[in-house]
Amino acid sequence: MKAWFLLALWPAAALAADTLPPLQPWQGATAALIQPKHPWVTPAELSYLTETPSYAQTVSYLQKLVASSEMLRLESIGKSPQGRDIWLVKASLQPDLVGKGDGQSNKPTLLVQAGIHSGEIDGKDAALMLLRDIVHGDKQSLLSQVDLLIIPILSVDGHERSGKFNRMNQRGPVEQGWRSTAQNLNLNRDYAKLDSPELRAVLGVMNRYQPDLYMDIHVTDGEDYQYDITYGFNEPVASQSPNGASWLARVYRPFINQQLEAAGHIPGPLVFGIDSMDFAKGIAQWTASPRYSNGYGDVRHLPTVLVENHSLKPYRQRVLGTYVLLEQTLSLLGSQGKALQLAKKADEQARPQRQVLAYQASDTPEPVAFKGIRYQKKHSEISKADYIEWLGEPLNYDALPVYWDKVPAVEVEVPKAYWIPPQHQEVIERLSLHGIRFSVLPAAKTLELQQLVASEPQFSSKPTEGRFMVSSNFSPSWGSFSLPAGSVRVSTDQPLGALAVALLQPQAPDSLLSWGFFHSMFERTEYFETYAILPWIEQQLKQDKKLAADFAAAVKADSKLAKDGQARLDWFYQRSPFYDTQYLKYPVLLER
Ligand SMILES: [Zn+2]
Repeated sequence: MKAWFLLALWPAAALAADTLPPLQPWQGATAALIQPKHPWVTPAELSYLTETPSYAQTVSYLQKLVASSEMLRLESIGKSPQGRDIWLVKASLQPDLVGKGDGQSNKPTLLVQAGIHSGEIDGKDAALMLLRDIVHGDKQSLLSQVDLLIIPILSVDGHERSGKFNRMNQRGPVEQGWRSTAQNLNLNRDYAKLDSPELRAVLGVMNRYQPDLYMDIHVTDGEDYQYDITYGFNEPVASQSPNGASWLARVYRPFINQQLEAAGHIPGPLVFGIDSMDFAKGIAQWTASPRYSNGYGDVRHLPTVLVENHSLKPYRQRVLGTYVLLEQTLSLLGSQGKALQLAKKADEQARPQRQVLAYQASDTPEPVAFKGIRYQKKHSEISKADYIEWLGEPLNYDALPVYWDKVPAVEVEVPKAYWIPPQHQEVIERLSLHGIRFSVLPAAKTLELQQLVASEPQFSSKPTEGRFMVSSNFSPSWGSFSLPAGSVRVSTDQPLGALAVALLQPQAPDSLLSWGFFHSMFERTEYFETYAILPWIEQQLKQDKKLAADFAAAVKADSKLAKDGQARLDWFYQRSPFYDTQYLKYPVLLER
């Protein structure tokens, strides 16, 4: 059906917001932050934070604001698939010196990213207001100790696939962007595999400016609760950056919650109910893997806060809460940023011998106080099933069960290095984009290395982010390998060593193998003809008594071998020198 026809059938009165659960009253003091009469009024403030400007309006406002202040720079960090510039705003007392190293400012640096899912655009309008108040208001002191980097719209093409019907579960803005990109990729699944130019642009910013804290701002759906601003990070009990995670848990969270509450907002944890029909059963404390911003930040030792504003709260309330969150984060970095930099450095210098690649939920919940919303079970004659109706009245839990994702599910011993053969340039390019250092072998060399052999691979039956994922068992074997010139050695003895393990250890959920970069190792490409192999087998059986005995034992143990002629020939072929020695072998070799 054509879209215009659908729109014609769908009366404006049936806009999604009208059917959403009832709102809790909110009179936030932060409404005073909106300045419709300010000479530098932001586009969203003109609508009293009910609408959000287009890409062109946003860029035009930013270009004028940047031209009006010595504290701002605007930099294109890359082009989208449809050719739009992705912009970075640098805000600093020395905007040309933002970064780390000799002659750079070396100040604690906050990287804020809005619109990775561009329908969830609260961060853009909050950031524009805050930038305005820094350069044409009374908040310049926020930059006295801190540098600020803002990507106001990351998914710029998705932002322009704008409409009133893009986010059914969300209260505003009136028109919203689309969740995925022009290539229909979900950017918050792309951090490990880096297929999108948008995420490659973000990685360029991380590598160039080396921020100390990263905030990725979203809007979440799901359950109803009282919180307007929820946020989280991989907690210290399940982190590859325990020092940074501890700073977030012990310094950042208490301060930020206190500041948001003082400003009239209701901060809370990320909420993932474990039973959609009965919220009281509890929530999951999620540990993100590296495909997500927060899991990626954790494994690269960049403390990362995933912000999820609550979709059922009005746009105005969400933007104002985000403003407070950004302002107070800058303020905290001003006083505590050096401690964060030390924590980050400690994580970068740690060389743990073992690494957890995936966590699973603990069976034993821990109770937390939680500001919920009352609900009841109802029956629908349309769906012929029960559903949960949220009633809009507060329901405070003293002890809601929380199931922590903190039990190691996959753990490995960290090798000294990985060796990648030169034919895997697609993989080597990804490592470069991540900022992982490696050396290239100038001439062929033979080394004793460990190889991982796959068994029982499972391929997904439908695509995930345009790729067919695979998982497999692996068993190690040792051998002498002749490495061609151009082979790449990736040492784990580097600041991004844990990231290298997460990408190259094939059992990891977001390894490049899992994402399909090594699918060809699962294919056999050479076969035998029966007329060629039978005489060869007869000859071998005469010469090799052990082979004959092994075959007899194998037939006894495997009923298929007793009667399946092809299986019998395969048994011999697999033990012959003609068999493909690379079939099912992970081509990346491990140095121990
Ligand atoms: Zn999102």
